[in-house]
Amino acid sequence: MVNRRDVLKALLGGSLLSAFVKEAEAKKGVPVIKRVRYSSTEERTRIVLDCTGKVEKSDIKTKLKGEVLWITVKNVRANHLVRKLKSPLVSKAEVIPINRRLVRVKILLKAPHKFKVFALRSCRGKPFRIVVDVLPDFVVTECEVRKQVKRVVVIDPGHGGKDPGAVWPINSYHPKIREKDITLAIALRVRRILKEHPNIEVIMTRTRDVYVPLLKRAEIAAKSCADAFVSIHADSMPNFPDWSGVTVFKASPRLFAKAQLVAKKVAQKVRLCNDVMCWSISPLLINMATTVTFVESARLAEAIVESLKAHVNDELVNGIRDMRRNILVLKTPGRPAVLIESGFLTNPKDRRRLIQSWYQEEVARGIARGIVKYFESLNTVAYVKE
Ligand SMILES: [Zn+2]
Repeated sequence: MVNRRDVLKALLGGSLLSAFVKEAEAKKGVPVIKRVRYSSTEERTRIVLDCTGKVEKSDIKTKLKGEVLWITVKNVRANHLVRKLKSPLVSKAEVIPINRRLVRVKILLKAPHKFKVFALRSCRGKPFRIVVDVLPDFVVTECEVRKQVKRVVVIDPGHGGKDPGAVWPINSYHPKIREKDITLAIALRVRRILKEHPNIEVIMTRTRDVYVPLLKRAEIAAKSCADAFVSIHADSMPNFPDWSGVTVFKASPRLFAKAQLVAKKVAQKVRLCNDVMCWSISPLLINMATTVTFVESARLAEAIVESLKAHVNDELVNGIRDMRRNILVLKTPGRPAVLIESGFLTNPKDRRRLIQSWYQEEVARGIARGIVKYFESLNTVAYVKE
């Protein structure tokens, strides 16, 4: 068998071969982008470029052009890589080699969002990484003082489309009862009742059986300059089948303290690699600085609970609880938000009631009347959408 290398040597001749070797050695010094990974949550999409060596910060330039984020990296090599993302923020990431020392990374966003680019040195078996964090950017409209007094409320029927919410029977593929249908039925009734009030404008996060991501719901709330945000649910408590009735949850400072704590823990974890950290970790904390009007949320919750007690059987109303779960829709900055559990599918009585129109109407009347009472309690200076 003929040795391939010998053939190659014969073909290329000595000098040409040594030129090849030299170039290969030179290339060794230039790090290579080996892989594109990503992770995605409602609140952040992280794209990670695994590199074979260190990339200088000064060699990385970023530019956001509309919905395309361009990252130009000097002194690095790569093969052409394309990664389609399942993310609410980003649709595609593409690594485009320009020449042997220049690579462009094209990140296609679904809308112009905030972003941060930083790097992590290789640490604990992980390679050097260029990290791109894409964070949702709510376009908050400047809310102007209204000429005539009009209040805006966002009604958010929980779940929808591919997300049925809680179901009965539990774990069934063809459930008889689905939370998404109950929440929509109640929400549409609330809208109908509020339409009797010319000074109240209702904005729905959905009016049909469609899937609306949490992020989109929060965006609707942020963009509408709403005076209140009301999310309607009917969940399950499999371990507590006795739990029944309507519960109103308000955003609590504790919820936010928890979110902050999680962010700090993440930061600390990264800081364990402190000496190997290159640039900054602050992007992790950016999104946590959301403020919410806790006092107003409590007042809205009180008004709704009072009114529910009048419209629904007194004993069925559990009162107000602090929201402990990390619910994104309650983190809408600057406007009071509540989440109403209109009942539990795991409780036989609730289950029977929740699908009946008389009960849905009672709950809807309670919610609507509570919103009206809350609005009436506000002073007369109101804010418009645009
Ligand atoms: Zn739910």
